[in-house]
Amino acid sequence: MINLYNTLARKKQTFKPLRGKNVGIYTCGPTVYNFAHLGNLRTYIFEDILRRVLKYNSYKVKQIMNITDVEDKIIKKAQQEKKNINQITKPYAKIFLEDLKKLSIEKAEKYPLATKHIKEMIALISGLIKKGIAYKGEDGSIYFNIQKFKNYGKLSQLQKREIKIGARVSADEYNKEQAQDFVLWKTKKLNEPFWKSPFGDGRPGWHIECSAMAMKYLGKTFDIHAGGVDLIFPHHENEIAQSEAATGKKFVNYWLHGEHLLVNNEKMSKSLGNIYTLRDLEQKNFNPLAFRYLVLTSHYRSKLNFTWESLQAAQNALNNLHNEMIIINADKKSASISENQRKLAYEKQFLDAINDDLNTPKAIALVRKIVKDKNLSSNAKKSLVLKLDKALGLGLKNVKSEKIPLKIKQMADERDKLRANKQFIPADLLRKKIEELGYIVEDTAAGPKILRK
Ligand code: AMP
Ligand code: ZN
Repeated sequence: MINLYNTLARKKQTFKPLRGKNVGIYTCGPTVYNFAHLGNLRTYIFEDILRRVLKYNSYKVKQIMNITDVEDKIIKKAQQEKKNINQITKPYAKIFLEDLKKLSIEKAEKYPLATKHIKEMIALISGLIKKGIAYKGEDGSIYFNIQKFKNYGKLSQLQKREIKIGARVSADEYNKEQAQDFVLWKTKKLNEPFWKSPFGDGRPGWHIECSAMAMKYLGKTFDIHAGGVDLIFPHHENEIAQSEAATGKKFVNYWLHGEHLLVNNEKMSKSLGNIYTLRDLEQKNFNPLAFRYLVLTSHYRSKLNFTWESLQAAQNALNNLHNEMIIINADKKSASISENQRKLAYEKQFLDAINDDLNTPKAIALVRKIVKDKNLSSNAKKSLVLKLDKALGLGLKNVKSEKIPLKIKQMADERDKLRANKQFIPADLLRKKIEELGYIVEDTAAGPKILRK
């Protein structure tokens, strides 16, 4: 049983998928005119944990993440650099996917481009015009009339906002204190890319992109929609309005939102100029997975203040975990019954943590406890931690196992026997010989371990 905090209900709910073991997830993707910053990446890591936890629970996941490749900021940059929008968006979309890979974020099943789905957006808007819910403003753009959709505000609690009846906004992102009619189709402007439509030349607004692509690939109603908290209003509220007004059906069952990454207690954002990218991290010789580790040590619904010190601590903790993975035990006994029971108990605790609204801080603490457990052999620990890492994605399976030469293993076994017979002097001599050959034998409660010197 998985419990997830649903923004729509403002509480944790047991997850019940629509189609058996198949789960449809839509995650709002990047606007590709620049590098993703660590704040954006925190949200994508949270969404990756969501899909991994579902898979860990034997669900089959279909995740769609859009790439916004036509938008005000892209157009502005293209104009400044005297390029067409494609020349801006293509390289950044590629870099985006590379960043995800470095963070061990699993690939979504599809990354649809907005510019390849204009037809679907036009169809949605046409339907809304026919129903009298969308209208043409004096400027020639098409707007959604929020008065015509009675559930407007159900996600973001409309009563907290000033409702500006008849007021229209043509920007995609706008004042979060106000609710007003929002743009679906922006009429053509000089030197801007445009597409033909029955309601005039122009280009789509940002919100309609997500509705069109989500419903095309996941159906009119699907399981989970996720993003950062800043998207609750207006973006997700508007997605619900457009989609439900068009289909008459519930758009999404579970809305999940990740909290922000902060710098000096302010949201990391391009507009505040306080951003870092993965390249900044790599220049300082950090492993991108140290950032992933840092993100997982806080719950996705808590704000996380980024500092280089906390990143260093995460890097150290990750290194320790990696070191635990390369230890090979001289003791080749198969796991005992009590060991197996311990493993099962840990697995259960781990599952309870991740299934409780993706409690990664608890899950990570548990992994750290496991690697320190003196009652588990290194082999048992390793197989257990690797299994749990399928949900956490810390890349532990890629840590290369050291091949300890047979001769060294035999010498360590021999030394163990000598010690068992209390022949400590020859045992110590053997240990020295092993050291001369580049290995160290460590006696632990779980038996001797061989490490490279
Ligand atoms: P954007 O490119 O601004 O549309 O953002 C892409 C994703 O990153 C969205 O899901 C945002 O909610 C999320 N996001 C933006 N800034 C932050 C931040 N400082 N911390 C966490 N997520 C963020
Ligand atoms: Zn979206």
